[in-house]
Amino acid sequence: MNSRLEQKALAACRALEELRLAALAACDGTDAGAETGTFAVSWSAGLPPGELAEQALASAAECLAESQPFRNGCVYCYACRTAACEHARPAESGQVFAGYQPTGKPYWEEFFNFLLALGDDRAERLFAPRPELLARVVGRQRLTAEQLDSFGRNSLTYRVWGQVVAGYVTVAEERMALTVQLVENKAHQLRLQVLAPDNLLAALADAPGESRSALHRVHEAIRGARRSMADISHLWEARHHPRQAAGIREKAFVVLRHLAHSIERKGRQDGRRTAHAEQRANQQRPVHTAREDLGQATEADFFRDRFRNSLIVLGKAGRAHAFNEEGCHITSFALTGDELERRLQRRRYQPLNEAERIAFRQRAMTGQPATDPAGGNGTPQP
Ligand SMILES: [Zn+2]
Repeated sequence: MNSRLEQKALAACRALEELRLAALAACDGTDAGAETGTFAVSWSAGLPPGELAEQALASAAECLAESQPFRNGCVYCYACRTAACEHARPAESGQVFAGYQPTGKPYWEEFFNFLLALGDDRAERLFAPRPELLARVVGRQRLTAEQLDSFGRNSLTYRVWGQVVAGYVTVAEERMALTVQLVENKAHQLRLQVLAPDNLLAALADAPGESRSALHRVHEAIRGARRSMADISHLWEARHHPRQAAGIREKAFVVLRHLAHSIERKGRQDGRRTAHAEQRANQQRPVHTAREDLGQATEADFFRDRFRNSLIVLGKAGRAHAFNEEGCHITSFALTGDELERRLQRRRYQPLNEAERIAFRQRAMTGQPATDPAGGNGTPQP
């Protein structure tokens, strides 16, 4: 073979290997596990570099997902030794994690039935004319009672301490349940994993900051629990004596009970609000602040949300607003912590160029902003 060609091929291979490593690094990998899947991109002459980068990122995410026990929205399946199999997620949107089968396969059950199985006589209230949002703490014992030792019962790969099951919240007119699981990993860190359908995860991530919807309150409750659990995780990692273990476990369950309580109490408050008040809270404030923020936004505050196909304007105090192409305000939400950073890194948000920005601002400022058509009852926001 022509050695000049070989040299060029070598350089290309090296460049691709660099691309692979960079893509792996760019994924929000949780545990630093080695990737197991095959990394693959396809290139043909004229392919824009951006598309190659996107392929690389998607492929890297798949590779990592197969080997990582912690995957967003998923439980770890000991039967398949991955969190990327079909058993790792609820098949129906109203299901919660009901425990492990003997072979380590996750078992999912309709929230209503699971409450009945727990002997919770409030289950009927889920279907009352004004349904209540119910939540309940479930301990490790029940979830692993059937699981065999040889199928992960005592494993630290994904060790479930306990969980809160809750439901129903309505997203896109569908009743959905969620499971918030407290899990220990190999490094003895404690994590809260939220297991829920994609729609619900997305709606929770985007729960509007100023809205008083049930979804927003669930979001806030989980956020509070995460904060408390981070401190408890540090205690657990640093513990020196077995005697301390029971006390730390108790603290963790106090947080879980508080989480269940917050979800419920807030759910009931939600029921007492009149539809009109709810509507007003969801319609007026965001639209008003959206226009204000839009007027004051600088060049760096405009993005396109590639996942939802909307235009995003950053406002003050962590606020953000989504608009459609015509410049109508769709919804407002809070971008807290490093969420903006993460969305930029995943390239979910891409900055608008100057021409796009000017045209969009013009449309949005002159056009009549639409009132929030989705309402605030937990419908997924764009
Ligand atoms: Zn499986």
